[in-house]
Amino acid sequence: MDELKACPFCGEQVETRAKFTEDSEGYADRHEWVECTGCARDFWPVDAWNTRPLEDAQAAEIAALKARIAEMEQAARWIPVGERLPPSGMPVLIATDIGMVKTAEHYSSVRQWSTDDGEYYHDEKYDWITHWCNLPEPPEVK
Ligand SMILES: [Zn+2]
Repeated sequence: MDELKACPFCGEQVETRAKFTEDSEGYADRHEWVECTGCARDFWPVDAWNTRPLEDAQAAEIAALKARIAEMEQAARWIPVGERLPPSGMPVLIATDIGMVKTAEHYSSVRQWSTDDGEYYHDEKYDWITHWCNLPEPPEVK
């Protein structure tokens, strides 16, 4: 059997307990149950102790949400220009070393940024552009 899950009531570990009784014909009957070391609640049958459909469903949902959060954080991450540049011509947000943020595209063939307010910054002259980030998805307009 897998390791027994903790007590759902108090969170403490549980242990299996067993005792033998004698049936009417003198044969030994083994009785086994789970007992909490914290709150002393007991449970039978032992095989069903780890069956927790609601807890398992919540754990699966939490894992899926954590994966989605990680995916969204990765998509919205500020990427240092020294790490990599965006695909050529793709609009992104850029940030400078003084905290200014603009929308711009980088053109790899001419090695320069073109901002939406009509400015051009060559990579070598304007090293104050420190990071870029993907634009968020536009809202769905109905
Ligand atoms: Zn307990």
